[in-house]
Amino acid sequence: MDTQTSEQSVIEGVKKQLYINGEWRDAAGGGTLAVEDPSTGETLCEVADAQPEDALAALDAASKAQVEWAKHPPRQRGEILRSAFEMITEQMDELATLMTLEMGKPVADSKAEITYASEFFRWYSEQAVRINGTYAVSPDGAQRIMTMKQPVGPCLMITPWNFPMAMGTRKIGPAIAAGCTMVMKPAKQTPLSMLKLAEILEEAGLPAGVLNVVVSSSSSDVISPIINDPRLRKLTFTGSTPVGRQLMEQASEQVLRVSMELGGNAPFIVFDDADLDDVVAAAMVAKMRNMGEACTAANRFHVASSVADQFAEKLAEQMGSMKVARGTEEGAQVGPLIDEDQLGKVEELVGDAREKGAKVLVGAQKVDGQGYFYQPTVLNDVPKEADLRYEEIFGPVAPIFSFDSEDEAVAAANDTEYGLVAYVFTSNLNRALRVIERLEVGMVGLNQGMVSNAAAPFGGVKQSGFGREGGAEGIEEYLETKYVAVNLPAEAPEFTGGTSVQ
Ligand code: NAP
Repeated sequence: MDTQTSEQSVIEGVKKQLYINGEWRDAAGGGTLAVEDPSTGETLCEVADAQPEDALAALDAASKAQVEWAKHPPRQRGEILRSAFEMITEQMDELATLMTLEMGKPVADSKAEITYASEFFRWYSEQAVRINGTYAVSPDGAQRIMTMKQPVGPCLMITPWNFPMAMGTRKIGPAIAAGCTMVMKPAKQTPLSMLKLAEILEEAGLPAGVLNVVVSSSSSDVISPIINDPRLRKLTFTGSTPVGRQLMEQASEQVLRVSMELGGNAPFIVFDDADLDDVVAAAMVAKMRNMGEACTAANRFHVASSVADQFAEKLAEQMGSMKVARGTEEGAQVGPLIDEDQLGKVEELVGDAREKGAKVLVGAQKVDGQGYFYQPTVLNDVPKEADLRYEEIFGPVAPIFSFDSEDEAVAAANDTEYGLVAYVFTSNLNRALRVIERLEVGMVGLNQGMVSNAAAPFGGVKQSGFGREGGAEGIEEYLETKYVAVNLPAEAPEFTGGTSVQ
């Protein structure tokens, strides 16, 4: 099979309808939307374009399935996740090609995402049987305090295009483990990976109605009726801060449980005692994973002034040698950006930094021809006033700023409304802990350029959101605590016979 045929067969192998109540069906009215290949700008295929009535049918299914699903034995819920984990691993090659075609990232990056995504199923298959309540004696001894954990109920999940599978499994995994049902709405630009995942979960034995998937070209129209429906109990959103803000407002109507994984503006801080070669290797991961289209991407490099130029040169050398190509091409390291708008935004931010005095060490241009490719770029001596210091770049651009003291580094790092992640590089442990304690973020990479791990709590503070995904914390987002005040008389009734057993 040549590459083109195998790409075509991967696309053909996906069901392109809505998945509601265990059935694959067309959208009301039969409309479809086009999914584009960002490396060519051409249409890959059409998928069903949900209308508000489809979304309500999905919520209906989730709501009807909730009671039975909550009773499903935890072990069985865990085993469904475990089977899905294994099926994802077996289908890795096809899934990676599919993801690359719709999202653009190189196949190696897609495989890394799929591994990460599947780990949430493995992790939560193990957590499903560890949902525990508590039992305690009240301080006055007159009562017992009992707590039980119960599923929150039907959840609405909204995910972005940049990690088409992992942003979904981070929510679906714990929700299945906890006994919640759900309506999932992936981004319209990358719905295929999620539709394939629904197929896998169906095959793994997930009962009808537990997971429902709706794809739509008009998100707000299909989401509004569900958010306003009292049967929905939780909203979990991953995406940009402005949309998150808007959804929180809508969610207040029904006082929904809410989790928000929003935008980032990660500082990457390098002290002069760090090993520069190790730092550059970590910088490549923190900056270039997903072409910089990650909420955790290093958005700005703050480097001790004594080593800033040396760091900049080393980074520029590596960035300049990366292969920019269609993600399915052999050896591709940098794929296209997601669309014309994103490409335009990156061009604008780089243009603004240059106008204000930043020095281009490498890149700083889009690639001519088909698709939305942008060259890996390093900008040195970037002035404080540059817009990219404050805005999410979401592209392969590394701006370097310098600092002269620890206080200056911390102040620069915290000078943002975001607070998702920061990276710190130093060989001095005291300094590392001192700095980390002062950083206003939910996560820190200490001497490493990546924090994502299914077994760890992922999430931000400030306008990067609230709630945690992954780790032991992740399942709590899908559980309610019910407290029972138990009246236990202090005195035992008088003993009237029998033999005591010692
Ligand atoms: P986005 O524009 O906020 O969209 C995210 C999701 O929300 C998509 O499914 C989108 O649907 C939907 N949406 C947009 N407007 C909506 C509305 N009015 N009502 C209901 N749904 C709506 O974000 P994006 O451009 O896809 O993703 C990039 C952003 O996500 C970045 O800011 C990045 O930092 C953030 N992100 C955060 C994390 C994290 O864990 N903190 C992880 C990944 C990404 P359609 O696209 O189909 O319209």
